[in-house]
Order: sequence, then C-alpha cells, then structure tokens
Amino acid sequence: MLGLYVHVPFCSAICNYCNFNRGLFDAGLKERYVRALVREIANAGTRDQADTIYFGGGTPSLLEPSEIREIISACEAAFDLSADREVTLEANPESVDEARLRAFREAGVNRLSFGVQSFRDEELQRLSRLHTARRASEALREARAAGFDNVSLDLMMWLPGQQLSDWLESVDRSVALSPDHLSLYLLELYPNAPLKEDMARARWSQAPDEEAAAMYLAAMDRLESAGYAQYEVSNVARAGRRSRHNLKYWQDGEWLGFGCGAHSTRNGVRWKNVSSTEEYVDRVGRDEDTATDVRTLSIAERLGDALFTGLRLADGIDLTEIHGRYGVDVWSRYEAELRPFVDDGCLKLEGARLRLTREGMLIAHEVMTVFV
Ligand code: SF4
Repeated sequence: MLGLYVHVPFCSAICNYCNFNRGLFDAGLKERYVRALVREIANAGTRDQADTIYFGGGTPSLLEPSEIREIISACEAAFDLSADREVTLEANPESVDEARLRAFREAGVNRLSFGVQSFRDEELQRLSRLHTARRASEALREARAAGFDNVSLDLMMWLPGQQLSDWLESVDRSVALSPDHLSLYLLELYPNAPLKEDMARARWSQAPDEEAAAMYLAAMDRLESAGYAQYEVSNVARAGRRSRHNLKYWQDGEWLGFGCGAHSTRNGVRWKNVSSTEEYVDRVGRDEDTATDVRTLSIAERLGDALFTGLRLADGIDLTEIHGRYGVDVWSRYEAELRPFVDDGCLKLEGARLRLTREGMLIAHEVMTVFV
C-alpha cells in the first residue's frame, strides 16, 4: 500500500544545525500553503490504497488541528485509506499543550513524533532549540493524557561538547518517560551551518569518532534492556510500534509526497516537488506541475536502492524476495565485495537473509556502497 507524506515547511525559529527544507512561520503563507496542499492531494487522487500519512517538516504541529483535519480529509477523498491507517504528526515540544494535542487526535492523528533531541538544557541551548528538557517531558505526558498510545522521540547524539555520560543521561531520561519508539540520530554538521561558527567561537568540539561509536552502542544496549528492539540502524520500538510509514522507505515500498520539496516514488519513477514554498503555492494555484527531477529508474538502480536501503533494517534483506522481484542472485553477484565484511563480523548471511550486525551498523555506509 502507498504511504502519503505531507511536508510542512514552517518553523518558529531556525535551528543552527538544520539543513531541512523549512522557513520561518508566516501566517498568511501558511494559509495559502494549506489550500495548495489540499488541491495538490485532490489532483493526485487515484483512489489507490494507502495506509499511512506522515506529516513531516519543518514543524507540522504549527498547523492548526482544523488544518490537519482538512488535509487528512483531502487524503481520504483522494485515496482509499485503510481503516487501521497510521497517521503521524511531527511535533516540537514547545508548540503543543494537552488541549492542542487532544484536538490533533480528534482530527485523525494517531501517532506523534516529538523532536526532543536532548534532555539536557545546556545541549538544547547549544542547538538553539526553543524548548527545555522539562517542557519535553511535559509534552510526552500531555500526549498520553490526550489519548496517544503511539509516541516517538527523536534524540541526537555526538553533540558539541557532549560526553558519553551526558548522552546516556538523555537516553535514560527518555526511557523513564516510556515512549513507544525512539529515533537516534548522529548530528551531522553541513558546511555552512551556523552551529559550526558557534562551535568555533565557544571552542566546543565533537568527541572523537570512537566515542561516537561508543555512544551508539551503549544507547542500543540500554534501550534493549529497557524492552525496545532495534529494527533499523537509527530506530528502536516496542512490539507493534515500528513506524509503518518509514518502513516503506526501507522495504522497497512506494509513497507519494505532497508539499514543497517532497519526494515521491511510484512504479519505478522518482520525482521531487519544487523546493520553494512560494513557488510551490504559485504552481499549484495555476494548476501547473509541481514535480521537478522526474526520473525513471532502471531495473539496476531499483535493485541497488532496494539493497542499499534494505540493509538498514535489523532484519536485513530477504534475498529470495529480491530474486523474485528483480531476478538477481545477490549473493553470487556481490560475494567478492561482501565476503570481507562477513569475515570481519560486520555482515551475516543466515539462510536467505543478509543483515548487518550491530558492529556492522557502525560502518553501514561502507557496506551499502557495494550496491550503488
Ligand atoms: S525545528 Fe526542526 S525543521 Fe525547524 S529549524 Fe529546527 S531542526 Fe529544522
């Protein structure tokens, strides 16, 4: 079934490390944007089956619950949405309270993903985030009180000045709040990130690589002891709480993206909407195509992508399934390149399953490049 991604490019402030497609909140532009989204979704309507909607951003929780409801209704009218759909809203802790969360729930959202990043105020300030650790904890409690039984937290590791013990403090405080799902990301500093200047000025540095690896491994151990199972390089979940939407990206699935900069993959064709919010709104208003970079993938590219992304999963890749889909015996084709990783204990071939070990996940990119 299809996944539907809806991009919301507005934020209350721009974080000093952020490289996403986003801009400052503007009430007038937001209204025009929501109208454009509804129109784009209606125009794309295929009545095909879909079972997930994911509001990503930016900060989707800056939209009003009534606007979220309107967008979900547009999806219902345009697609055959399953009754047990997963509808995720990314939210920043400072942009919600219990009443607002309850209203999102009533609008049809049934999963929240909070951008917490850290439970240490000092680190949050370094990242120029608007919330405090206390606000993040409250937001999670408010989500439960509002009736959400599927809540995820994002945490970031390898922050400037962060020690292993600091990082584990955030992990432990997350576990104490008992979310259903956690995503752990490594801070990536893009070339012109303002955070880089802040770091130079304040003489903050990131810990050496080995320590980043230790942070990752220690967090995964702790989360497993607390009842979470790792199902992807950066994601853990309680039973039945994996992100069904994100699994489509890793399981060679199909999705349609709506809004500025949103990506889509369907029937072997990949495209991206125009990145600029204004241009997107204008194009939709004129009933012009919003897609750019439309590319029909060759079978070799599709296979490469399926292997590349599938290897991110803790369960790895089912080689029989890949053979059925692409007619390629992956092991015999790539054995020479993959064998050294198997010998080093980074990769395992178990029956027809090829998967990274925990150690292998530390060098996932190196292994994956074999396929592209
Ligand atoms: S809230 Fe998220 S999307 Fe917005 S600027 Fe910060 S990191 Fe970027």
